[in-house]
Amino acid sequence: MLHDSSLLFQYVLKGTITQALLNWYGHYARKLPWRAPYGKLQDPYIVWISESMLQQTMVATVEPYFARFMTAFPTLVDLARASLDDVLRLWQGLGYYSRARNIHYTAHILLKDHEGMFPNNAQHLQELPGIGPYTAAAIASMAFGEPVVAMDANVTRVIARLFALSDRKYCAQHAQNLCPAKYPGDFNQALMDLGAQYCRAHQVVCTLCPLEMFCLAYRENQPFMYPYPKEKAEKRTRYALFFCALSGGHLLLERRPEKGLLGGLYGLPTTPWTETLQNTTPIDTPIKTVQWLLLHEITHTFTHFRLHAHILYAQVPWREKGNEERFLWVPYTQLAHYGIPTVFKKALKHDLIAKISKIQKE
Ligand code: SF4
Repeated sequence: MLHDSSLLFQYVLKGTITQALLNWYGHYARKLPWRAPYGKLQDPYIVWISESMLQQTMVATVEPYFARFMTAFPTLVDLARASLDDVLRLWQGLGYYSRARNIHYTAHILLKDHEGMFPNNAQHLQELPGIGPYTAAAIASMAFGEPVVAMDANVTRVIARLFALSDRKYCAQHAQNLCPAKYPGDFNQALMDLGAQYCRAHQVVCTLCPLEMFCLAYRENQPFMYPYPKEKAEKRTRYALFFCALSGGHLLLERRPEKGLLGGLYGLPTTPWTETLQNTTPIDTPIKTVQWLLLHEITHTFTHFRLHAHILYAQVPWREKGNEERFLWVPYTQLAHYGIPTVFKKALKHDLIAKISKIQKE
């Protein structure tokens, strides 16, 4: 819903709205380890790593990961010189592992082609792998002071309510119109804080919001009308068999192909993840002739689909070698050194070893 006269009023007030937001941020900004003090620019490396971690992930989850990551790789050069396995290991549990692979790859590019410097504007930042419009705008505004708005779900929601916009596609233009030439990074972070704390999807605290007196949705007493909810796509289920081969205190792991979901990470060998369960033995693994027993089943939810996996177990008499770049026998005691994604960790839980010894006794 658009209110032309009210919108005109908002534009006349735009400097006042922006200033109210910045004043509020100066007093009440969340204290986060990756943030510069009010009015100051931040190191682009810090903005990049924190924003990459924060995509689809809660602040409280990111904080310990960010601390460990910055201790291991305090500079861009440290990250570029690290192995991908070390980077993935520190990312273990954060999910969306393509982000970790991209930041590692991009660190190499920045070192090789840009003398270790970040481009200083959103347009050129977006030419780097894994840096989309949001992250580019966040780095450009918070580290270089470029007046560009970083539109994420929180910012979109606040702007939609402030201007009573039902359609998300108009929000970026309205936000950009408010973005100040001075302190654009603080402006972006103020909107992020409002969206995360007071102007939430299903809960608002308008009385504490610095935009209350300007907010059209508040005036209508209809904050939840804006923006229209997105239609949720139905998640499909895929099926797979996971093969848990054990031999003399070792577990067989497979390094997944670089391209695709969980690329480059170690997990259990699996059948392809398909929409019907294919009851096949593992293809290409060094294990061919053992009898597999069903241990348990798990369901794991990814962004766009659900995976239902049957976990099969076999005790293998000796550790046959296969393609050594792909398959690896890892002692149980060293499993923690591999960046094993949550779906495989889930498969390996349920007191796996106890179940196995029980099966062996029967
Ligand atoms: S006044 Fe209420 S609805 Fe409007 S932006 Fe603030 S918290 Fe959101």
